[in-house]
Amino acid sequence: MSLILIKNGHVIDPENNINNQFDILIEKGKIKKIDKNIEPFAGCEIINAENMIVSPSFCDIHVHFRDPGQTYKEDIRTGSIAAVAGGYTTVVCMPNTLPAIDEVSIVRYIIEKGEEVGLCRVLPSAAVTKGRKGKELTEMWLLKDAGAVYFTDDGAPVWDAFIMRKAMEYAGSIGSFVADHCEDLSLSNNGVAHEGEIAAALGLPPLPPEAEDTMVARDCILALRTGMPVHICHISSKVAVETVAWAKALGAKITAEVTPHHLSLTDDEWLDFDCKAKVSPPLREHEDVEAVRWALASGVIDFVATDHAPHAHQEKMLEHQHCPPGMIGLQFALPTVLKLVKKDYFDMKRAIEVLSTEPMKKIGLTPPAIKEGETAELVIFDPFESWEVNEETILSKSKNTPLIGRKLRGKVKYTFYNGKIVYSDKSGV
Ligand SMILES: [Zn+2]
Repeated sequence: MSLILIKNGHVIDPENNINNQFDILIEKGKIKKIDKNIEPFAGCEIINAENMIVSPSFCDIHVHFRDPGQTYKEDIRTGSIAAVAGGYTTVVCMPNTLPAIDEVSIVRYIIEKGEEVGLCRVLPSAAVTKGRKGKELTEMWLLKDAGAVYFTDDGAPVWDAFIMRKAMEYAGSIGSFVADHCEDLSLSNNGVAHEGEIAAALGLPPLPPEAEDTMVARDCILALRTGMPVHICHISSKVAVETVAWAKALGAKITAEVTPHHLSLTDDEWLDFDCKAKVSPPLREHEDVEAVRWALASGVIDFVATDHAPHAHQEKMLEHQHCPPGMIGLQFALPTVLKLVKKDYFDMKRAIEVLSTEPMKKIGLTPPAIKEGETAELVIFDPFESWEVNEETILSKSKNTPLIGRKLRGKVKYTFYNGKIVYSDKSGV
């Protein structure tokens, strides 16, 4: 259908100061008209968006699509489907694939395969060090030139501080940045669950929060001293958040992301001994969850990233020490953030910022705009409709999440990318 009329939606576009009810007419993929009331006419498809939000679609700078190498967990096609079902049209893939994304040919493979699937913008990050081994820097300039949007060894930290400093300086000097999975492995010491009452009661090997805190502190100080940007992946502890606030106040170019699971779940998820609760960094205690929520509200944490980490059922059935950490997240970010709006941590405008415009700006892209003349790249969601998380509603290839069987509130109804509807909750992709 070349004409689509979105009626009565509450349009929120933080970058363009729009926060009101409007009708939107889309012709041949372009936003033709935005007005208080546009009368429907013959031949136009009408989307009734009453009581729904219309916003720029979302951006997730931290997903694991497992392609190349582990496509039994996820691939670029299934990952893209989960993304658009979650309202996302821009995602950045992590380089801990097999082989790692540390060469131009693999950067190109991700971009080309993403374009071939065509549901959303699939962008690669590239490894900081060759093979993610932490020893020798990759050819950052060539990788960036080929399309890598930033550098990370995620899944593992850049443990060597000298290498980290060099990487930050090099990435910063070419207009990019390093994102760090902050974990001092000597402190985590093969721990499984957050060190606290739950791990002690269940006899699970404890993982102290200092493993995260000390490396966040190191990176903050390197950012301060070098003046170079650094991004903290999946921040989860209260002390780490306070450290980032301190470094930001001193002028460090530091940014941080938080996952839906660290915003909503605690180590209580371990109580049924299910390894679906295993994730890195681990699910923490109530006071940590409160700290990351308020930090997201205040801007100390810049935005949400899902760390969507699919694993096969048989892998998550392994014993807790052997089961790989990680959970999926692309379809749960919106409901998680909406819950925080409902509980008054922040308003709907901030919700759109942390899901959409802030992460887009972080990777140097212009957020999609809801403006006349622009190509339609937007999401329409019902903030009130609830749905159950189950094998059918999860569109990722892997179903590893502790949320199975639970009800979430907030449902993506339509996702537009490149002027087209790439997902609707009635007809799928
Ligand atoms: Zn990580």
